[in-house]
Amino acid sequence: MHPTTAALLAWYAACGRHLPWRCEVGPYRAWLSEAMLQQTRATTAIPYFERFTARWPTVTDLAAADLGEVLGAWAGLGYYRRARALHAAAGIVARRGGFPTTAAELASLPGVGPYCAAAIASIAFGEDIVAVDGNLARVGARLFGLDAPVDAGPGRAAVAEALASLLPPGRAGDFNQALMDLGALVCPPRRPRCDACPIAASCASFADGRQSERPRRRPRAAPRALRAVALLAERDGAVLLEQRPEGGLLGGLWGPPDLVLAPGETSEAGLARLVARIGLPTGRARYLGSVAHAFTHQRWEVDVYTMAVAPTPRAGRLRPLDGAADLPLSRLAEKLLAIRATGAAPAPPGARRGRPAARPRRGPPG
Ligand code: SF4
Repeated sequence: MHPTTAALLAWYAACGRHLPWRCEVGPYRAWLSEAMLQQTRATTAIPYFERFTARWPTVTDLAAADLGEVLGAWAGLGYYRRARALHAAAGIVARRGGFPTTAAELASLPGVGPYCAAAIASIAFGEDIVAVDGNLARVGARLFGLDAPVDAGPGRAAVAEALASLLPPGRAGDFNQALMDLGALVCPPRRPRCDACPIAASCASFADGRQSERPRRRPRAAPRALRAVALLAERDGAVLLEQRPEGGLLGGLWGPPDLVLAPGETSEAGLARLVARIGLPTGRARYLGSVAHAFTHQRWEVDVYTMAVAPTPRAGRLRPLDGAADLPLSRLAEKLLAIRATGAAPAPPGARRGRPAARPRRGPPG
């Protein structure tokens, strides 16, 4: 075994994190944890993992669950398409009678990318393969002094190839998890603790003092700034929720109806369009406040209105909030609903953007 690998594994045995998915190793737990850990910190994922495994102890149980329940249990983890893919993959695994056992086969499951497949294959099935996530990319780039952007194919491949030279046969699961932990605990993006690092003696970036320059990344496009309106339509004290279309942003989740404004469109005009779209009878709408929400590639500023509606609006995708506690809500929906409780009297949207203030109470046109 390479001395760097030996030092890394000794450190992992003494200092590795105690995580619930490591207590009892198996493909279901490895897969579930990796699905949750994408874009999510371990501390955030732990309670979700424990809830999921308590409610659905096997992949067959998860496959048999209603998708809405799975989305509801996932709420707060974000990136809901991961939860939908998780449910779809559980169905495939249950039907075929078990998980595939190689990274190449695992990668054919919905939501299982090359990293996730390699992680499951190495941890649950002992395949000798490096699983390059963000932590491994960072540690690998620093350790080997690699300057190609690690979020592009060639840079990522160079890290994988370099780390593969240290892979201990038969212990790839420990090796990958040791590097994940080293990246999380000792070699984070900022201020790596090289003085406490078990592999500092062989680290090229430590040797040349360039830790803060690595890993390099491609420049990212700024998220698109969009304006939107949302309506808290109240009927008998209950807010009406709408299910978002499958396949779109936050697809399948529930929340107050909303709509992205067209360029140059006012909130009032957008609100009128929204009311017409959902088929509510028009009424007097009142501006409640504004909510900012960031998606991966978009940043929304949402003007929130409330309106009493009667009689019963068109059925379909609308449901009252009370009595629908199990409906999966998006984080955006939670923010929109929370504004109801603030009771503040905010400046109307026109005033906040430097336009002449609109009247605080108004009915939407149309
Ligand atoms: Fe990271 Fe420093 Fe260890 Fe190199 S020596 S792997 S930069 S913590």
